[in-house]
This record gives sequence, structure tokens and C-alpha cells, in this order.
Amino acid sequence: MKLSVVVPCYNEEAVIDSFDTEIRKVLDALPIEYEVCYVDDGSRDGTLEKLRKIAATYREQTRYVSFSRNFGKEAGMLAGLREATGDAVVIMDADLQHPPELIATMLDYYQQGHDQIIARRTREGDKKLRTALSRLYYRGVNRWVDVELTDGVGDFRLLSRPAVDALLSLPEYNRFSKGLFSWIGFDTVHFDYRNAQREAGETKWKFGSLLNYGMDGLISFNNRPLRIGIWAGVSLVALTGLYALVITIQAITQGVDSPGYVTLVGIMVGLGGVQLIMLGLIGEYIGRIYYETKRRPHFLVKESHGVEPRSRDSKDARDSRDTRVSTAEAAVAERSS
Ligand code: UDP
Ligand code: MG
Repeated sequence: MKLSVVVPCYNEEAVIDSFDTEIRKVLDALPIEYEVCYVDDGSRDGTLEKLRKIAATYREQTRYVSFSRNFGKEAGMLAGLREATGDAVVIMDADLQHPPELIATMLDYYQQGHDQIIARRTREGDKKLRTALSRLYYRGVNRWVDVELTDGVGDFRLLSRPAVDALLSLPEYNRFSKGLFSWIGFDTVHFDYRNAQREAGETKWKFGSLLNYGMDGLISFNNRPLRIGIWAGVSLVALTGLYALVITIQAITQGVDSPGYVTLVGIMVGLGGVQLIMLGLIGEYIGRIYYETKRRPHFLVKESHGVEPRSRDSKDARDSRDTRVSTAEAAVAERSS
């Protein structure tokens, strides 16, 4: 069998060499064929240079694509999965936070016939606040989304060929991998590992981008949040009805007295807030529809090694359109000849 290791890298100059050494040490010791598929996600440091060197040293067992700019890790993973030709694919980070020696464990599970083998990190050594917030988020979000998201489960996993093909067949532009992995299903196992500290370089996640990522997770997988609006509306109407009844009874029995200014302002502000939240939510969904309809490729490649042109461009959703265009062109050519 052949194993592909997909590694998205963004400004990983400081750690990429030691990663490469480590991973090859592990892979050489295994009784299988392998390839390492790097994706340079538009790094602005010497990452690409280092990838070129690595590819020159290990010509046969290395592939890479380099993006024209930073397209984000989701695009990087997608490109890597397209590059990969193995019977199974491991996705891992370049910073050695995902211990390479776990690949052997994953292969064991794979040989037992599982399709998704997920390494779940324990949050030991993480910041307390971040851990607590993550826990809270996962507890909340699983009520709302249709797929199950698990705390501590990242992108470090082994996927069988059928699972990879399933992922590649999902054409959406807004990719929230954690959800997609879970959505495709297949025979899945988890195992725990201890979280390692980043070897060198620094994390690309700021607190703000984590919040945005969290929002993506909530919005990407259903339209249930829109329903909050309906329920909020219904309960508000019920409450107001009740309140109106109380006031009317009061007015009849005791006569009209206080101007009710506070109540009025309170209700207006509250309702305004609910409306704004709902407008924002609807806007989020419309924004996503907007991006999906443009059908832009997920990434653009400026340089690659060992990768067929086929996988160099986005071939998913545009495929249908492209065939349409090419048949139209063929028809024109036929007519003019
Ligand atoms: N990464 C990427 N594109 C980006 C951001 C990150 O390809 O825009 C890669 C990065 O090089 C690393 C992996 O994604 O290999 C995880 O990033 P990082 O270590 O910064 O995230 P953390 O481990 O802190 O969650
Ligand atoms: Mg990291």
C-alpha cells in the first residue's frame, strides 16, 4: 500500500526542515510506500525555498504545490488531498504538534478496516481560559448543528481512499473541515494523544480568528439558527399579548395613571436588538450563498512539483460548467469547419 502525508504550511520556515526529517524517519521505518504532499499556503518567508530543496533531495517521495497567496488552511488541506495519490492519506500540521510516530498507530487501525482514524488531543498544557471556552463552545454548538463536532479533534487524522474521494466530491466554497469530516461518516475511530507544544515558529490563530472560525462552525452546517428568529418572535408576541391584557385590565379597574415610559423604551430596545441579530444571521447566510454562486476556485497554484496539472486547479463545482463550455466550443468548432 501507499500512504500520502498531507502537510499544509504557512510561514513554517523555522520548523519545516526538522518536520521533514522526523516524518521521513518514521515513514522509512514502516513497511509501506509513501509520499509527502506539502502545500505552501502563500508563505512570505523561506518556506517555499525549503520545499524546493526537500523536493530536490527526495524527488520521488515528495510533492508540493505552492499557492499564489495565502488562501487559508482549509484550501491548503483541499489542495493536499487532491495532490495525494495514496491508498490512505494522513493530514498533519507542519509544526510537529502532531507527533509523527502516531502514524504507525493509525496504520494499525487502518489495517483493521477503519476509514477515518482520528487522533484526539488532550488539552493538557493549554491555556485554562481557552480550554474552558472551547468546552463551552462544543457543548453549545452540538445542540445546533446537524453533524457532531468533538472537542480536541482537529485535522490530524488518517483517511482511507473512499473517505478522501467523498471529501473531494463536496464542492462547497465555504469549507469547514471539522464539519465535513464528520458529515461524510464512514467507519470512524478516535484515539487520544498528548498535546505537544509547537516546535518553532508561531501559531497563526489569533483570538479573533478563533471566534470567526467558531461562527463558521455554527453557520456552515444548518439553518437552524434562523429558526431562533421565529421562536423569539412567537414568544415575544405571546408575552406582549399577555402584557397588553394586564394593562387593559389595570386601566379598566384603576384608571390610566403612569406614562409607562420605561416599559416602552425597554420593549423598543429589546425588540431592536432581536431584529438586528436576526438580520445579521440572515446576512451571514446570504453572504455564503453569494460566495458559493461565484464558483471561484478554492486556491490558485503558482508552482508545483510532482503534481499532475489536473489537480492543480479547482476542478470541483466548476467541472460541470467547464464541460458545458467545452461542449459549446466543440459545437461552434464543428459548425465553422
Ligand atoms: N496553516 C496554513 N494556512 C494558514 C494557517 C495555518 O496552511 O493560513 C498551517 C500551518 O502552517 C500549520 C497548520 O496549518 O501547519 C496549523 O497551524 P497552527 O500551528 O498555526 O495552528 P494551531 O496549531 O495553533 O491551531
Ligand atoms: Mg500548531
